[in-house]
Amino acid sequence: MFKKAQIKLTILYSTLFLLLFWTFSFGIYFWMDSSFGEGYISQVKQRQGEDSDTATTKNAKVVTVAGDVALDQLLNILIVLNGGLLIIIPIASWFLAKRTLSPVQKIHEQQKQFVSDASHEMRTPLAIMSGEIEITLNKKRTTEEYKKTLISTKEETNRLSKLVENLLFLANADRNEKTLTLELIDITDVISDVVQSLQLKSNNKNIALTLHTDNVTTPMVHGHPTLLHQLFYNLIDNAIIYTPKKGKVTISLSELKNFVSIAIVDTGIGIGHEHQTKITQRFYRIDTARSQTKGYGLGLSIVKSIIERHKGQLRISSKVNKGSTFTVLLPKI
Ligand code: ADP
Repeated sequence: MFKKAQIKLTILYSTLFLLLFWTFSFGIYFWMDSSFGEGYISQVKQRQGEDSDTATTKNAKVVTVAGDVALDQLLNILIVLNGGLLIIIPIASWFLAKRTLSPVQKIHEQQKQFVSDASHEMRTPLAIMSGEIEITLNKKRTTEEYKKTLISTKEETNRLSKLVENLLFLANADRNEKTLTLELIDITDVISDVVQSLQLKSNNKNIALTLHTDNVTTPMVHGHPTLLHQLFYNLIDNAIIYTPKKGKVTISLSELKNFVSIAIVDTGIGIGHEHQTKITQRFYRIDTARSQTKGYGLGLSIVKSIIERHKGQLRISSKVNKGSTFTVLLPKI
């Protein structure tokens, strides 16, 4: 598809450039030609005076012949030059077309990858559900067994709706990149809300979830409340998921010169150096057996997308088996 587009674009560029060069070259030639013709002799005569002697006219004729020779040479040069351009321009156009198409090609490939990953992720829960239902329907079952299948199917449908929700979120974020209405928000309120909603989950794992807001005077940012809630929910939720029982998750707010900094520090399984730059990519997950969780690898790409839309930054530092720190920097008011 892109090869075809590249060929078409090359033909278009080549035609345009060649037309431009040829018009310019032959424009110069015809202008020079008309300057060295009869008009040239009469101009010489005019300058010398109408009653000039025959010698002057002879001189003028010699100059005209010289002009003709020069014109012939110019014509030869232009033919050779434009002949050369006939080879150079299509080659240059080919590379120019490639360059023009490369960002479009990159986006197209990302989209293709995204659709293929999304379909793959959707197929798994659907296959699980279909398999379970089929086995259950194979023979007569007890009410308990039917209930078990229904509960398991419900779990899978929940996961599937979460996946679709996340995919829709990312697709919308791609489309409305610039149309986000931001409002003045006290970031402590948002994070307190998230901490409260995740308290039960951390209690169940015996994880100490704490929020430190020392030395920070009402850190206000321009933000979107729902998106900021989702951003910190994803990060704190991950911190709880990837921290073993009896661990710690600490959230600290501090103020820098231009940013409000929110650090989410956990004592969890950590992230290997080689993964740290990749975990914000869509569908990127580290060894699922290691984490034993059923995520889709979309949480952090959503985090990244929300931070970008707030003109903030995300910094990740982590050590395997020691823990991770995700620091969000949001522009301060
Ligand atoms: P998932 O749904 O798989 O959690 P994310 O995009 O949220 O997707 O995270 C991508 C991967 O990054 C996860 O699979 C996990 O391996 C790793 N990860 C994210 N947060 C942490 C953390 N706090 N500690 C260790 N690993 C993490």
